[in-house]
Amino acid sequence: MEYRLATRAAALQPSATIAAAQKARELKAKGVHVYDFSLGEPDFDTPEHIRAAAEKAIREGKTHYTPSSGIPELREAVARRYAERGVRYAPNEVVISNGAKHALHNVFSVLCEPGDVVLVPTPFWVSYKALVQLSGATPRLIETSPASGFKMTPEQLEAALSDDVRAIILNSPCNPSGAVYTRAELLALADVLADTDVVIVSDEIYEDLVYDGDYAPPLASLREDLRQRTVTVSGVSKSFAMTGWRIGWSAAPRPITEAIERLQSQQTSNPCSISQYAALAAVTGEQACVAEMRAEFARRRALVGEKLAAIPGVRATQPDGAFYFFIAIDEYLGRSFGGQPVRNSVEFCTACLEQAHVALVPGIAFGVEGYVRLSFAASVQELEAGLDALGRFLASAS
Ligand code: PMP
Ligand code: GLU
Repeated sequence: MEYRLATRAAALQPSATIAAAQKARELKAKGVHVYDFSLGEPDFDTPEHIRAAAEKAIREGKTHYTPSSGIPELREAVARRYAERGVRYAPNEVVISNGAKHALHNVFSVLCEPGDVVLVPTPFWVSYKALVQLSGATPRLIETSPASGFKMTPEQLEAALSDDVRAIILNSPCNPSGAVYTRAELLALADVLADTDVVIVSDEIYEDLVYDGDYAPPLASLREDLRQRTVTVSGVSKSFAMTGWRIGWSAAPRPITEAIERLQSQQTSNPCSISQYAALAAVTGEQACVAEMRAEFARRRALVGEKLAAIPGVRATQPDGAFYFFIAIDEYLGRSFGGQPVRNSVEFCTACLEQAHVALVPGIAFGVEGYVRLSFAASVQELEAGLDALGRFLASAS
């Protein structure tokens, strides 16, 4: 029998970050020690009090379906967290989903359709393009450059607007560039949208991972008009080292949230009940664990920055947020490594993994050629030894 897939399924590429991690995993399974800087997930264990809350939920039999948009306590807790950060959401403006990725999928599904355009500044997180395309809409890339710190300017935004633009994605702190927009920069961008109905999808999953201050304020907190036009997406994956629990959320004005509620009730019933109780403990419990993890990431950022500065021919600016270095390797393209020609970032990452056992993600997966992404969510020992291996690999170029 011949299986005919839907066009949208046939066109779908696998997530490049997950694919890079899988390649690293396969090499590890052969007994090779891989310096794995591919996947963006905190290497810390989920804090103990959060795990205890999950165990308690299991013992207390909280193992049934929950309301499809999430348990009321968690929706309220997320709303309170936003109130503390300067923006008021009612609990029924929050939907708990299976991770921020699922929340983003919901948002594009209810907002966009064929004929719509979604603006996506580059470099962008790998899944934005696919999630927009799944909704039928077309991504329109806005190319940023190192000269502007990989931030979109108001002029670029203005030039990219047209009547069919339905939404724009903002991701600050940004994966992969680590760029964090200032308040003034965000307000200048917002001013460009003032007379439009363009919705801002603000992916704030790295909000707690900034290296100047405790958190990046929610975009929606900056001004009332921004609260009206923004869908805020975030979750517990990065702030609380809870990637595997799969809890994220969206917060948006009622008409959008109400559509997401209907979608989610048909699509997934509800996110895992046990994970929701764990996320409740994360959001309402002591926050010292977040600060501790941030401090450790800051130490690693300094270490990686120093090590990279000592390698000739690579350029990277220190990220202001998240846990990635976006490294320019263009000076090494067109050269050979161990007899293997390396013409682009994909070939670079393949050779680097095979020869140096260092796993990175090609820049092209984020829409920018000539770069690779290094995740420093790895131990200091791994980072030190892995960066030495990367340095030796680069020195072997002919
Ligand atoms: N947005 C960005 C920018 C990310 O890096 C990630 C990676 N996890 C996500 C969203 C998805 O987060 P989650 O694991 O909660 O689905
Ligand atoms: N967001 C992480 C990354 O960029 C995890 C993998 C994914 O969901 O893409 O590596």
